[in-house]
Amino acid sequence: MDYSVWQKRLDSIAAQGLRRDRTCLQSKQSVNVDIDGQSYLNFASNDYLGLASDKRIVAAAQHGLAQYGFGSGASDVVCGHFDIHETLERELAEFTGRDKALLFSTGYMANLAVSAAFCDSNTLLMQDKFNHASLIDGGRLSGARSQRYLHNDSSSLQAHLTRLTGKQNYSNVVISTDGVFSMDGDVADLKALSDIACSNNALLIVDDAHGLGVLGRCGRGSIDEARLSQDQCHLLVGTFGKAFGGFGAFVAGPEVLINYLQQVARTHIYTTAMPPSNVAAMRESLSVIRDDDVLRAALAKNIAYFSERMRSTPFECLSSSTAIQGVVVGDNDNTMALAHYLKRHGVIVGAIRPPTVAPNSARLRITLTAKHSFADIDRVAVLLMQAIEQGIVTTKDLVSGGSNCD
Ligand SMILES: *Cc1c(COP(=O)(O)O)cnc(C)c1O
Repeated sequence: MDYSVWQKRLDSIAAQGLRRDRTCLQSKQSVNVDIDGQSYLNFASNDYLGLASDKRIVAAAQHGLAQYGFGSGASDVVCGHFDIHETLERELAEFTGRDKALLFSTGYMANLAVSAAFCDSNTLLMQDKFNHASLIDGGRLSGARSQRYLHNDSSSLQAHLTRLTGKQNYSNVVISTDGVFSMDGDVADLKALSDIACSNNALLIVDDAHGLGVLGRCGRGSIDEARLSQDQCHLLVGTFGKAFGGFGAFVAGPEVLINYLQQVARTHIYTTAMPPSNVAAMRESLSVIRDDDVLRAALAKNIAYFSERMRSTPFECLSSSTAIQGVVVGDNDNTMALAHYLKRHGVIVGAIRPPTVAPNSARLRITLTAKHSFADIDRVAVLLMQAIEQGIVTTKDLVSGGSNCD
């Protein structure tokens, strides 16, 4: 077997400045992490509430281990579904104000499932241009006629809908969107999307990976913030990898939709159920999220402070009131140079390049958590200013945030 074609492709990825290298942590996921024996300030995780290494969550996982052992042993539909899975599903349904919830092993799998379950080749599927890769891939898997509308632009959605449904009869229409956009941090206009869904008899799917735990009353997410019931916003995809500080996902909604999903979701049926200790930990995360407003308040303060702090720099942040703060640089190499400069000075941030974001909108993705201090935030702001003074990038290199983002 000649592998040279793969080596060439690999080389070409590197030549475009698109190679992705993993950092290898040698400590707990936290505000301070160890990499190669050195301590770094961490602005790159999605652990918005600092629950990934919270003592309460760890203790709950340990109790789960003691009670249930480690592996679940089978798929949910065979014998991998325990009483504790059942309890968590019920608690999630209650928390989100939906009839029922169904667990998935990851958010990626949950999104593949909802798209494939509710769309087929006679479906018109409308997606926000900035939807997460898993929703896009789910749409492809379903074979639906897929149309992406301009980012967070309900008039673009309505215009495409009118045009496409005028040309052809579809058996159903589905609209899917992120609740909080993962690379920009802005919040979808869910009320407008819901109105369009209702007036077009369309199913609305919201992936609230970054809103759940953070936005809404008691962290119920972006759908709760928009005060939308399950009849206005039909399916909610939630994930445990972000604010919950764990691993896994769920889909919640009206009973009939969840019952149907359970029957047809291949990423639920043909995969091993979540380990019960993870379920135990996520029950504890849910209870912390529901009952502990202190963490959300600390996060909100940090978001306000960061935005204020960055206003006095030449860097433009994308408009975001969430934990996800995008500093758009534009060029891939400049973005990497800035990220490396920060890393050399002990700070890690996300460096996001195409195809995750549009060409020429490469950016630093700085994520804030409840556990950062104002001094931590000062440090990243000061380092960004120093990078300009040191000529790592010039102010001219910086493309203005938002202008090139659709
Ligand atoms: C992280 C993320 C997912 C995937 O969730 P995993 O549980 O990590 O697979 C899905 N959608 C969005 C918007 C995300 O940010």
